[in-house]
Amino acid sequence: CGIVGYIGNKEAFPVLINGLKRLEYRGYDSAGVAILNGTLDVYKQQGKVGELEEFVLSQKVQGNVGIGHTRWATHGEPSDANAHPHLSMNGKFSVVHNGIIENYARLKEDLVKHGFVFSSETDTEVLANLIEFFYNQADDISAETAVQLALSKVVGAYGIAVLCSEEKDKIVVARKGSPLVVGLGNGEYFVASDASPIAEFTNHVVYLNDEDVAVLDKNNFTLKNIQNNPVSMKITNLDLEI
Ligand code: GLU
Repeated sequence: CGIVGYIGNKEAFPVLINGLKRLEYRGYDSAGVAILNGTLDVYKQQGKVGELEEFVLSQKVQGNVGIGHTRWATHGEPSDANAHPHLSMNGKFSVVHNGIIENYARLKEDLVKHGFVFSSETDTEVLANLIEFFYNQADDISAETAVQLALSKVVGAYGIAVLCSEEKDKIVVARKGSPLVVGLGNGEYFVASDASPIAEFTNHVVYLNDEDVAVLDKNNFTLKNIQNNPVSMKITNLDLEI
């Protein structure tokens, strides 16, 4: 339902939790965040963003890279296990997702045949494991290539943000049929499913188009499509939007 992401020099958690609060108006049943700081740490639960905030603050989480989500369940009941972010089986990838992976049951069957084990009922966890499956096919496959390969198998709608525990200064984001916007800061980038969590930090945003795959690190923003062809980037000034 709602997506936020941050990479830069700030502490990620306050940016993520305030962003999730700005997205609460859309409605949701669960909330969660993943912070990448040496390890990929995921905190997620059914219930309000405020409850998640209290719990995570008690854990003294630190890190400059993270993603967050408010879920409106479509596949699997509202529960802690079904809340996002979802980790891939070996913990290499963490994924937040808006939308519906329509062919998830078929993809899940194939992944189970390859030995993948699932801990939720969601279509999103299938995508997390599919990304990990492709990542493991060769040593030189990057997180963004694995995301591109996984998305080329997907039928459905998605806005996603992905962290990889082996590529620590990076967020990969993509969309098809579900909105995603990147905020351009100074040595930092913001991601969200609409501009409301971003507007307090920067007026310069890029709305992704269908099948765009963006890679954000602290100082770079590259935009390609699922087929790995470069695509042009249009910067929008939020002040000038009507
Ligand atoms: N289909 C996903 C799920 O049920 C994402 C739902 C959403 O957009 O929040 O977990």
